[in-house]
Amino acid sequence: MLEPNVIPKTEPHLRVGLFLPEDGAKRVRMQLSNALDYSLQSNEGEKTALIPGGFLEFAIMTDGVIALIDGQTKGVSSRWRIMPAAEQLRPREGITVKGVIAGRGFHWKKTIDATYSGVLEISQNGQALMVVNELLLEHYLACVATSEMGAACPTALIESQTIVARSWMLANIEMKHRKLGIDVCNDDCCQRYQGTTFLTEQSLQGALSTYGQVLLYGDRICDARYSKSCGGVSESFENVWDGQPVPYLDAIVDASEGFQDSALPLDSEEKVRAWLEKVPAVYCSSHLLPEKELIKYLGNVDEEGTYFRWRFVYTQKEMTALLNLKLDLKAEAIQAILPVKRGKSGRLIEVRVVYYTQEGKREFVIKDQYTIRDSLHELFLYSSAFVVDTESDGGAVPTKFILKGGGWGHGVGYCQIGALSMALRGHTTAAILQHYYPGAQLIKIY
Ligand SMILES: [Zn+2]
Ligand SMILES: [Zn+2]
Repeated sequence: MLEPNVIPKTEPHLRVGLFLPEDGAKRVRMQLSNALDYSLQSNEGEKTALIPGGFLEFAIMTDGVIALIDGQTKGVSSRWRIMPAAEQLRPREGITVKGVIAGRGFHWKKTIDATYSGVLEISQNGQALMVVNELLLEHYLACVATSEMGAACPTALIESQTIVARSWMLANIEMKHRKLGIDVCNDDCCQRYQGTTFLTEQSLQGALSTYGQVLLYGDRICDARYSKSCGGVSESFENVWDGQPVPYLDAIVDASEGFQDSALPLDSEEKVRAWLEKVPAVYCSSHLLPEKELIKYLGNVDEEGTYFRWRFVYTQKEMTALLNLKLDLKAEAIQAILPVKRGKSGRLIEVRVVYYTQEGKREFVIKDQYTIRDSLHELFLYSSAFVVDTESDGGAVPTKFILKGGGWGHGVGYCQIGALSMALRGHTTAAILQHYYPGAQLIKIY
């Protein structure tokens, strides 16, 4: 397992929980790959060679976990390990596990079959089976990068993104599952991980060509935050998360040196509005990189998405229903949504909602960008960098609220669409990282 704030000297292994005690699984079925040799080892050290392509089944018994190989009982042990003869990573190669949970805790929770490289460990935890995938960190990184990158990605984007993910991973061992003896779980709670199921040659190459490279600031690995689109100016760390300012996560203008705009810096409501109402020629803008092009490069964007500048229109009735649902206001009508405090990218970090209930006029203050984004959209607003316009028919409250905004995500650190635009313009991996994390050093730790 990884240790927080310790820089590894050799490539570490990672323990990823696939079945957690809360899933309550009593049995699990798997199938071995045809291309790899495996052995099964009990906790007592007894080792059995397995036949490629074979089926395995494990189930909870009163005295431990029973293992069945192709339907034949092998024995009972407190812990089993399925070990590959060699640690290698290839798309769709490994052990296929049936019925793995995806979307744990969400309404769309479902089970999938997924294939994993490395070791699988099956043990008992209370009344449930626990399944852990132990694999090399670089293999894990290549597997989780897949959903972010399309086939046509330029090398400097793949490489810079992999270095960011590696640094973030090593700097942010959160230890939320430490009690279970795992570094991370397989789901969105940590990072979505489906083994080699969707692994591509591109993400594999990205991990290989940047093997062991991380961003360092002083003697610590950088907390390399990233988001989809900064909207033109990135946000500083302390405006999104509690804590002290981080030198390499201060706001930057996402453009080439010498870029100037009359709206910058975004230190007044007028300048924020002017900035959001135009499309400046910054790296992540649709001006330099048309949004309909994005689908070619980034795996998880919509074909019709407009992320750099966007707008949402709500009627009075819709806005009242939305805020009642999200903030439990019991409002009859919304009078105003007022900016109170913004970060350096124009992202709102405090908003005041003025509304009417049956008893009279009330106010509600939302105090962080996450809740602002969660409250002002049925699902989740792209970002909290927006201004609010209203329309009125002369009555006491507006008839319409128009949100005009920019960017996608919290906006701190690496801007994924901006980095893509830089890579397409020929900037190197190192130059892209230096742009988003000024002062950070790129080094190879193993
Ligand atoms: Zn987790
Ligand atoms: Zn950007």
